[in-house]
Amino acid sequence: MTSTIGSRINDIKASLPAGVTLVAVSKFHPVEALEEAYAGGQRVFGESRANELVAKAGALPSDIEWHFIGHLQTNKARTIMPHVTLIHSIDSERLLKLVDAEAKRINRTVDALLQVHVAREETKFGFSPEELNELAASGVIESLTNVRIRGVMGMASNVDDEERIKDDFRRIAESFADLKRLSTLDSLDTISMGMSHDYRLAIDAGSNMVRIGTTIFGEREY
Ligand SMILES: *Cc1c(COP(=O)(O)O)cnc(C)c1O
Repeated sequence: MTSTIGSRINDIKASLPAGVTLVAVSKFHPVEALEEAYAGGQRVFGESRANELVAKAGALPSDIEWHFIGHLQTNKARTIMPHVTLIHSIDSERLLKLVDAEAKRINRTVDALLQVHVAREETKFGFSPEELNELAASGVIESLTNVRIRGVMGMASNVDDEERIKDDFRRIAESFADLKRLSTLDSLDTISMGMSHDYRLAIDAGSNMVRIGTTIFGEREY
């Protein structure tokens, strides 16, 4: 790619409707790439591994908002807690309660999204829409003291079929509407969906937070 990280971020931002937040997904990319994005004005970064988030948070300016977007192992919740602004990937009630306890332990409040699983891949983490509705109606999320639930995060099936992708995004947006209807929270304002290849469809379906990695930083080397 001949364009720079900064110019790619500016191009994406210019194409996003007002009110849509860009999370620059920097997982597996070196600190230098994030510094370039930072110099271009980007302040919100998404990471999917706890150790990597902690290391990068220590190496980069403190006005960055770190979002955790991967599956969070319960034994890693404690390590990210001092650094993370928003956890997108709360995928079980057990993890939710643990994150609440870990936030309380260091006397802070953390924002979080409930991950809803609608994609056809069987290995994906998250609540089914039915499970999410049960949780929303249970009173559990209102009883949390140090986690503020802001909404939902989801991914569409990894397929070429646009209709299928649109349908997945519609279901995620529907889960958000159900969460609003079934809970008494007044903090619900975020639908995190859309990645490099499908974020335009996600925005059409109601997303107001997109998580974009490859289009900004190029292919990841695992
Ligand atoms: C890696 C990742 C992304 C970014 O994907 P790209 O295709 O590189 O834009 C977004 N969301 C989640 C949850 C991810 O793990």
